[in-house]
Amino acid sequence: MQPIKKIKGFQDITWQDAIKYNFLEEKARNVFSRYGFSEMRIPVLEKTELFSRTIGDDTDIVQKEMFTFPDKKGRSLTMRPEATAGVARAYIENKIYSQERISKFYTIGPMFRYERPQKGRMRQFHQVNAELFGTESPQADAEIINMMWTYFTEIGIQGLNLEINSLGCPECRPNYKNRLQEAIAGINTDNLCPDCKNRSHTNPMRLFDCKNPECKQYLQNFPLPMDFLCRNCQNHFDKVLNLLSITGINYSINKMLVRGLDYYQKTTFELTSDKVGAQSAIAGGGRYDGLIQQLGGPETPAIGFACGLERIMLLLQEIERPILDFYLVLLDEKGTENGHRLAQRLREQGFTGNVSYHTGSAKSQLREANKQNARKCILLGEEELQNNTVQVKDMTDGNQKQVSEEQLCDILQN
Ligand SMILES: [Zn+2]
Ligand SMILES: [Zn+2]
Repeated sequence: MQPIKKIKGFQDITWQDAIKYNFLEEKARNVFSRYGFSEMRIPVLEKTELFSRTIGDDTDIVQKEMFTFPDKKGRSLTMRPEATAGVARAYIENKIYSQERISKFYTIGPMFRYERPQKGRMRQFHQVNAELFGTESPQADAEIINMMWTYFTEIGIQGLNLEINSLGCPECRPNYKNRLQEAIAGINTDNLCPDCKNRSHTNPMRLFDCKNPECKQYLQNFPLPMDFLCRNCQNHFDKVLNLLSITGINYSINKMLVRGLDYYQKTTFELTSDKVGAQSAIAGGGRYDGLIQQLGGPETPAIGFACGLERIMLLLQEIERPILDFYLVLLDEKGTENGHRLAQRLREQGFTGNVSYHTGSAKSQLREANKQNARKCILLGEEELQNNTVQVKDMTDGNQKQVSEEQLCDILQN
């Protein structure tokens, strides 16, 4: 019979990688809780409309990259391609705004995008997200950026740089958009790539997301949102930068950073590391003050960021197989029952270990213990049972001695 294979772009996570995911997730929980964030778990499946209304109908995500299919009643459902839309929906649906003025959430979990699979980019990937609702204060921008920075510092990613920009607000953006439209009207849009030609009508700011070198040439001469900020936006941006300087964040202003989602305004940012190569963000986010209202909730300013774990995984050192405190070698049948009693006692006391599933040749069992990365081997047979002792072998120096069960715990502790 033909074995069944997994779906293209999906991956099996075996222990070598599961250890890394656990490390990244535990670190996120640890760091984010220090900044007053608590976890929110939202469904993987949502109504398609949620994403088309928030991310934007003419974005690459919505147009090309969503896992969308009808359910049995013909309703269109989508596997979440990102977390913010779902968290925003949950925030409104659970009326969290009526319970607290400021809300800070993080989510950890799989996201799904129908992209061409490549290294570090799978169709099911994993993200850590943080969202802060309820304040316009530039302090919130600085704080969430600080939290992101601390997270990456503590997982050991070096060469960090924050790229930051301001996209303006509903007050100053219309003026900017007009100027941009004028600039686009002044060029022959046939020279742009098909995507950009399209965007130049629907959402011209998205042109800045294009990686095509020819498009980029035109963009060099286009007006930038940063140069058209209203006084409120400029003030906000200056305060964010000031707070970032005070807390030692290494930032550079990137006036062309717009990010591919419709809902961003004011502050947007990306975190890069020179370890993954230029132009390659390991995290990014921004302010989305209009989103909650746009989804039918009350006017609620908000800011958030996301980071993909697979990109970070590429930067992590290999993590060694976890060490076992003990491996129980069973010298004969008599040792088996007593061995399981002893192993149970040791595990209850917090030691990690395995028991050999076969008796007989100590040599082959010791080889197995070595393979499993055990620090100490406990050898147990009829003889040991009779004089109420066990043999302990130190796997690093090979020393072996006979001890009582009581002494055993002390030896394993060291
Ligand atoms: Zn503004
Ligand atoms: Zn283009």
